[in-house]
Amino acid sequence: MNVEIPNGKMQTEPGAARKRKILIVEDEFVNREILVAMLDAEYEMIPVGSGADAEAVLLRQAGEISLVLLDLNLPDRHGLDILREMKENPRTAKIPVIVLTSDKEAEVESLNLGAIDFIPKPYPIPKVVQARIRRTIELSEGRDLIRETERDHLTGLYTREYFYRYAEQYDVFNPDVPTDALVLDVNHFQMVNERFGKQYADEVLIRIAGAVVSSVSASGGIACRRSADTFLVYCPHLSDYRAFLDGIATAACGNDRGRIRLRLGVCAETEKSVEMQTRFDRAKIAADTVRGSFTECIAFYDNAMHEKEIYAERLLDEFRAAIDGKQFAVYFQPKFDVRPETPVLCGAEALVRWIHPELGMISPGVFIPLFENNGLIRILDRYVWRETVRHIAEWKKKYGSTVPVSVNVSRIDMLDPDLVGTLRDLVTDGGLDYSDLHLEITESAYTENARQIISTVNELRKIGFVIEMDDFGSGYSSLNMIATLPIDVLKLDMVFIRSVFRENGNLRMLKVIVEIAETLSVPMIAEGVEKAEQLNTLREMGCAMVQGYYFSPPLPAAEFEKYVRERKKENA
Ligand code: C2E
Ligand code: CA
Ligand code: CA
Repeated sequence: MNVEIPNGKMQTEPGAARKRKILIVEDEFVNREILVAMLDAEYEMIPVGSGADAEAVLLRQAGEISLVLLDLNLPDRHGLDILREMKENPRTAKIPVIVLTSDKEAEVESLNLGAIDFIPKPYPIPKVVQARIRRTIELSEGRDLIRETERDHLTGLYTREYFYRYAEQYDVFNPDVPTDALVLDVNHFQMVNERFGKQYADEVLIRIAGAVVSSVSASGGIACRRSADTFLVYCPHLSDYRAFLDGIATAACGNDRGRIRLRLGVCAETEKSVEMQTRFDRAKIAADTVRGSFTECIAFYDNAMHEKEIYAERLLDEFRAAIDGKQFAVYFQPKFDVRPETPVLCGAEALVRWIHPELGMISPGVFIPLFENNGLIRILDRYVWRETVRHIAEWKKKYGSTVPVSVNVSRIDMLDPDLVGTLRDLVTDGGLDYSDLHLEITESAYTENARQIISTVNELRKIGFVIEMDDFGSGYSSLNMIATLPIDVLKLDMVFIRSVFRENGNLRMLKVIVEIAETLSVPMIAEGVEKAEQLNTLREMGCAMVQGYYFSPPLPAAEFEKYVRERKKENA
C-alpha cells in the first residue's frame, strides 16, 4: 500500500508494494535479456553473468531476494555447486531457486539438491514463465505453512493436492510427452499392519515411496501418497511396467517379498485433454480390477473399462427415476436347514434386481458397488427393506405365518445414526415381529469400524433382530475378533465355498471354519451351494444351513410365495 506523507513524496510501506527482487544468474547475454524483458514489469531484476557475481549479490542482499533463476553452465562455476552452497547456508537456504536448463539429467539432480522447479531452454512463452515464477514466489512466501501441507509426513512425497497441481504443470511444460497416470496400491495393507505391526508397515510404505521416486524421477516423473497405502505416480510413458513393479516390490520388502503384494493401474493418456484427476480415477479403476488377484497385478485402463464407466454413469443418473418408477424388484432366495434328514425351508434372503426398461434386468453385483460409493445405497436399501416388510406382512396375513427373511444392510447403513430407529419403525409399522426380519451385515463392515458397528449391532440384537454375518471368510477378521462379536449366524462367503470345492480344493480350511462356528456356538449358513457333493460335504462337517442354486435361485415375490406354499404342503 502506498501512503501519502506530509512532504508530498510517496513512501513505500516496507514489504507491501515494493517489487520483489529476482536474481538472474545467466552468462548468455541474449538469454538474460529475454528473461529480463519477460519479467521486469513485475519484478526488480538483478541480472549477473557469473558465479562470482551471484555470490557477491547473495552475500549483500540475501534477505531481499525473492527468487533466484540459475543457469547451470556458468563460465566460472557449475550452477549445481552454487545451488548446493545456497542450500547449505542458512542465510540463503530459504530462497527458492529455479534452474534454467536444457539438460534432463540436470533437472533431476537440481531438484534433488533443493531447486524448487526448473524452466527448460529454450524458454516457454512469457505467460508460462511469468505464471510459474509468480506461483513459485507465492508458494515460497507461505513456505512454512506449505512445507507442512505439501509433503506427506511419513514418506516425504507430495500430498494429493500439490501433486495434481505439479502434474498439471508438468503437462504445461511437456505438452508432447506421452505421460501415464499410475495408481499403486498394496493389497490387503490392513493385514500387513495387523500381522507385522505398524512400524513394519510404515517402513514398507517409506521404502515403496523411495523406490517409486528413484524409478521415475530420472525421467521427470513425480509421485504422491494419496491415502494410507495408495500412491499416485505421473511419469513419461514406461514400456515395461512389470519391471517397474518388480523393482518396487523388491525394494519394499527385499527377501520377504511374499509379505506384501502390490497392484498397479495404468491410465496411458496420449491426449492430454482428459482432466488430471479423471486420469487417476481411471488408473484406480484399472488397479481395482486386479485387487485380490493372485495372478495379475497390473491393469491398463482400456476401452472396456471406459464403456463400463459410461454405463455406470448412466445408472447413477437414472437412479432417482428408477426408485420413483419402482424399477427395483425384490427377489427371495430360499434358505434350508440341512441338519434334519430332509432339508427344511427355514428362511430366505431378499436380493434386489433392477428391472430396467431399456437395459433389462441388471444384477446387483453391477449397481450395488456403485451406489455404495456415493451413499445412494442408503436410499435403495431402505426401499428394499420396506418392500420386504410389505411382502412379509402380506404373507403373514394370508397364511398366518411365514419364514424369516434376511435383508442386506450395507456398510454405509451401519454408520447411520438413525439406523436402529428406522428398522424398528419398519417392523412395528408393518405389524411384524423382530424375528421375521433378519439382518445381514458384511464381515468387512466389522473390520472397518469395529467399535461403532459392534455397539449398533448390540442395540439391534437387544430389541430382537437376528444378525447374520455376511461374506464370512472373504474378509480378514481375526479369530479373536470373531469370538467377541455379537452375531447370531455366520454366513460363509460363496467365493470361499467355491475355492474350497475347486479340484483338490482345501477342505481343511473349510473344516476349520465350521469348527470355529461350532466353538462359538454360532450356526453357520453356506451360500452359493450348487452341487449335491458340496451339500453333502457341508452337512458332514456340521454346517447348519444352506442357500444356493442347488435348492433354488432367487425368485420373484409371487414365485417365492408359491414355492413356500408347496414346501409346506410337502412337509405336512
Ligand atoms: P450376497 O449378499 O453375498 O448375496 C448372495 C449372492 O449369491 C446373490 O447374488 C445370489 O443371487 C447369489 N447366489 C445364491 N446362490 C447362488 C449359487 O448357488 N450360485 C451362484 N453362482 N450364485 C448364487 P446377487 O443377487 O447378484 O447379489 C449380489 C450381491 O449384491 C449380494 O451378495 C449383496 O452383497 C448385494 N445385494 C443384493 N441385494 C442387495 C440389497 O438389497 N442391499 C444391499 N446393500 N446389497 C444387496
Ligand atoms: Ca447377503
Ligand atoms: Ca454373501
